[in-house]
Amino acid sequence: MRVEKNHDRCIGAGQCVRTEPKIFDQDDDGLVRVLVDRLQRADEAAARKAVFICPSKALSLVEE
Ligand code: SF4
Repeated sequence: MRVEKNHDRCIGAGQCVRTEPKIFDQDDDGLVRVLVDRLQRADEAAARKAVFICPSKALSLVEE
């Protein structure tokens, strides 16, 4: 499973980074960066929470 981001939707609110800084970061413009290509099983719940709380629905989970 991996996280897909939509830069056009991201408003730089940063909740994803505060929820799981191992998976998410923000670039110089405040837009989301996904730090991992594939999620470890142990990180999936945290990623799911970040997807849920993102206010602009800029994140989604993709099964591989
Ligand atoms: S929570 Fe959503 S809007 Fe905020 S930085 Fe993360 S992806 Fe962007």
